[in-house]
Amino acid sequence: MTIEEVDVTIIGAGAAGLSAAGEAARMGARVVLVDDNQHPGGQYFRQPSPQNYKCKSLVSEKDRHRFVQLLKGIDTPLVRYCPGTTVWDIHDQFTIGLADGERSRRIRSAAIVISAGARDHVYPFPGWTLPGVITAGGSQNLIKGMGIAPAAPVVVAGNGPLLLVAAANLVSVGVEVAAVVEASNRPWNIVRHAAKLIHGGSNLGLAIKYLKILYKSKIPFLRGYGVIAAYGSECLSAVDVAPIIRNGKFERSQARRITAKTMVTGMGLTPSLELPRLLGLKETSMPLRGGPNIITNEKMMSSVFGVFVAGDGSSIGGVELSLVEGRIAGINAAIHAGIGASESMQLSLTRDLSAHRRLCKFRSGLERVFMNNVDWYDLLTPETIICRCEDVTWGKLHKCKEKGLITPLQLKAATRIGMGRCQGRNCLGTLAALTSHEGDDPTKEQEMPRTRPPARPILLSELLHEQLPPPELPDDPHLPRQQD
Ligand SMILES: Cc1cc2nc3c(=O)[nH]c(=O)nc-3n(C[C@H](O)[C@H](O)[C@H](O)COP(=O)(O)OP(=O)(O)OC[C@H]3O[C@@H](n4cnc5c(N)ncnc54)[C@H](O)[C@@H]3O)c2cc1C
Repeated sequence: MTIEEVDVTIIGAGAAGLSAAGEAARMGARVVLVDDNQHPGGQYFRQPSPQNYKCKSLVSEKDRHRFVQLLKGIDTPLVRYCPGTTVWDIHDQFTIGLADGERSRRIRSAAIVISAGARDHVYPFPGWTLPGVITAGGSQNLIKGMGIAPAAPVVVAGNGPLLLVAAANLVSVGVEVAAVVEASNRPWNIVRHAAKLIHGGSNLGLAIKYLKILYKSKIPFLRGYGVIAAYGSECLSAVDVAPIIRNGKFERSQARRITAKTMVTGMGLTPSLELPRLLGLKETSMPLRGGPNIITNEKMMSSVFGVFVAGDGSSIGGVELSLVEGRIAGINAAIHAGIGASESMQLSLTRDLSAHRRLCKFRSGLERVFMNNVDWYDLLTPETIICRCEDVTWGKLHKCKEKGLITPLQLKAATRIGMGRCQGRNCLGTLAALTSHEGDDPTKEQEMPRTRPPARPILLSELLHEQLPPPELPDDPHLPRQQD
């Protein structure tokens, strides 16, 4: 098996990956940049597909310019950009397995930057799997990537800043928004954490722009409320919203029904951890920041020497932080690969580190503005689906509990939860939260099913020609691989 060798491999061509690749190449490193999308940009800089594009473009002049600059950064013979290519394995910290739809191959490098982004965090509630219930990220992608406006009227509900972005963008493309339903209700936190929020820079301007759009359009804004159920026979027709009381439960006696053809649900984002987990990178739990986060140092290096993790795939922070983290990781990965940093690169790094500190302060202020104590599990009924790939309901999991099966591993074996096409990407986080919520000690760390390759679904035909290394299974396959 021939293995291509480069200085730095970067996984993900979103904000973090593009800026990492640009900086590493500026240092003189030979870079491979891999992304499973056909076009660079990731989520924030998602490029519209020209066919059938019907919506008004939402891309600002500033972002258009920034994206062009990012593309210029990778437009050098030092960077080999591989679109439409999935990283399905990281065999050790230096060798990745990647498949491009036709064949799989390996690349070895001195340093790896994982900038794989995030996904929407979804809490199950009655009716959440009905056609017409989509996530905030999904709504953004429909509009930005495909030019498709979700069917109106739309109820936008959940918690966090992406909800505001999604609601304002729906209004901007002319969609009727029936209500914005935000769970947090601590407006005074804006004043209390103003000293942190002030560090937001252009983020602040954007937040004001979005709020103005919503205010001008006179959309009912329900603060301290949540959707308790979605209804419809073939697809969504209405949602019930109820106020959240002091103990975080829903006051069902005051529920009211809102007609909706689409519900955009946004409960924040959670880092995509399948690749970090293949390597057993150390994690920490950050409940206000999407749950499990990857521990990195100031260089964005993880617990495994030579593996850097940047952007939302390490810890949710938004596009500005992702850009900065990508640059820091790119420079440090090149240094790790043995390339010396010039004085001007050192200066760039110092500037980025100070921007990083400022943006982290802003993030922490923002998290406090949207903080809430909502008991989302108060919404579950025995019929509520937890794992949509395998149709596992809350009732089924509860029956297992009666038989003494309580850990995520036991429940996976008994019900097939997390064994469907999404490989647990959507439901394992919920399962972990549910089992810790139900357990005696919610702070106790839980043993989760081990991530195995392929990290994302690939075709068997892609693997067929590849000579695979001999299997080296650990004694206990549920434990992370041992690091040397
Ligand atoms: C669905 C969604 C929509 C969003 N829309 C917006 C928005 O409109 N506005 C906003 O402010 N914020 C949005 N966000 C938040 C946004 O993700 C970030 O702020 C920003 O894009 C993070 O940049 P990043 O480089 O860390 O990740 P991303 O931009 O997500 O880039 C990561 C890239 O890595 C690729 N990737 C992941 N795993 C693999 C693999 N195994 N092999 C190959 N490639 C891989 C992904 O496909 C993606 O292209 C959205 C988030 C999500 C999840």
